[in-house]
Amino acid sequence: MMIDNSIVDNKKGLNENEERFRALVTATSDVVYRMSPDWGVVLQLDPGDFLSSIEPIKDRMQAYIHPIDQGLFKEAINEAIRQKKMFQLEHRVSSADGSIDWVSSRAVPILDDDGEIIEWFGSASNITERKRMEEALQLARDEAEQQKRLYEIITANTPDLIYVFDPNYNFTFANSALLKMWGKSWDEAVGKRLLENGYEPWHAEMHEREIDQVIETRESIRGEVAFPHAILGKRIYDYIFSPVINAQGEVEAIAGTTRDITEIKENEQRKNDFISMVSHELKTPLTSVISYVQVAQKRAEQNNDAIAVGMLERAGKQLAKMTNMINGFLNVSRLESGRIQIDHQVFDLSALIKEMEEEVSATVFSHAITFSSPKEILINADPEKISHVFNNLISNAVKYSPPGSNIYVACTAGKELVQISVRDEGAGIRDEDLERLFERYYRVKEAETNHIAGFGIGLYLCSEIVKRHGGNIWAESKPGEGSTFFFTLPIYKTC
Ligand code: ADP
Repeated sequence: MMIDNSIVDNKKGLNENEERFRALVTATSDVVYRMSPDWGVVLQLDPGDFLSSIEPIKDRMQAYIHPIDQGLFKEAINEAIRQKKMFQLEHRVSSADGSIDWVSSRAVPILDDDGEIIEWFGSASNITERKRMEEALQLARDEAEQQKRLYEIITANTPDLIYVFDPNYNFTFANSALLKMWGKSWDEAVGKRLLENGYEPWHAEMHEREIDQVIETRESIRGEVAFPHAILGKRIYDYIFSPVINAQGEVEAIAGTTRDITEIKENEQRKNDFISMVSHELKTPLTSVISYVQVAQKRAEQNNDAIAVGMLERAGKQLAKMTNMINGFLNVSRLESGRIQIDHQVFDLSALIKEMEEEVSATVFSHAITFSSPKEILINADPEKISHVFNNLISNAVKYSPPGSNIYVACTAGKELVQISVRDEGAGIRDEDLERLFERYYRVKEAETNHIAGFGIGLYLCSEIVKRHGGNIWAESKPGEGSTFFFTLPIYKTC
């Protein structure tokens, strides 16, 4: 019998090929399979770790495909068979343990000399992990997109500018008012830094340093800045940057709001101008009234008219109070227009305190006021302004504590600073008021002090004077026990 050598060679070749193929299959974690031309029969060579059978099977391939993707799968295969081109699809499969896995399937047709499909070689790899990650990423993206839409809606109708920076100074959110001010779309502006959004270099630099500060201190900061608006011209803005702290306690973003306060500022200016004008206008007739009262008082003394002397004396005291108040308003307006000058000179603060003690003991009889200070402390300051601060704190202590109680004025020298304190035994001040006492026109709303006259400018002036001397001013208090006002001034160094 003749043996057909070509058949033997072909078989041998095929066996070798199949062995190589098996080696390849063993080395891969993919499922590798061979399919009949019409995908009707599967000869599965290796099931990987996610299919349940390795038997050659008929019409079983479909059974692995998850019902959701069966239609898609069939369509893709029919298309590949029709075109005799590679089949490729990412789809779900029902896994051996009943769970749903994701698989990336590819199969190439093996064609005979006539271009007809002999069979398909395919592989399927488990891409469940990747798909899950993609899904999680997409979910996070969707959530972020939803958050963004929510912020947009919430912040769309406010004229305030609302925005968020990442720690690298990039805007990650800008509301419609801000985009409108820039004249930019979301895509043009978000992801960019201040400079790229048209801020001038000094302005961008200033905010970037403030962002650094918020990250470092994890505290909000507030500021005021004037810059030209694209449409409205030069405007004044009040802004707050606040840290957004994540679960790990790190500052992950900086949220900001900016409000146009130009009109508030203009109104304030008008009000100040008005107060200053009224005070000026009142001062002239007041000065004349004071001199008429003084002349009349002298006349009454000459005429030995004791009743008239007494009445004119009281009138004089009331006029002095009025002068004080008017001077207070004039000082505020001078201060704000930069017309208050600090005339520095080196002098002994202890000597000034001594003078103060003499003056007070001659004029204040309602309280027991005790002074204590070291022998000599040289400071370089404006003695008139510092006396003003002393007077204000002492007269407040008198005003806001019961007659007969004690007031202590003390002075202690440290290395760099001298610290002055004025302590009373009055009703005290609540914490929420303590922080605001030094604001202009701020008065505590308490039933006990409502009847005490004042405009809330004394402490504001004190604080401005002390700050302009490079010192600090604050108050401490225990409601019911009394208050202590402190201020510091730099000590003059001789060398
Ligand atoms: P004025 O006394 O004219 O109202 P100030 O600026 O001197 O203005 O004081 C502001 C407010 O601070 C006062 O209205 C008062 O309520 C409170 N205050 C100041 N000093 C004292 C004090 N020694 N004890 C309690 N409250 C005080």
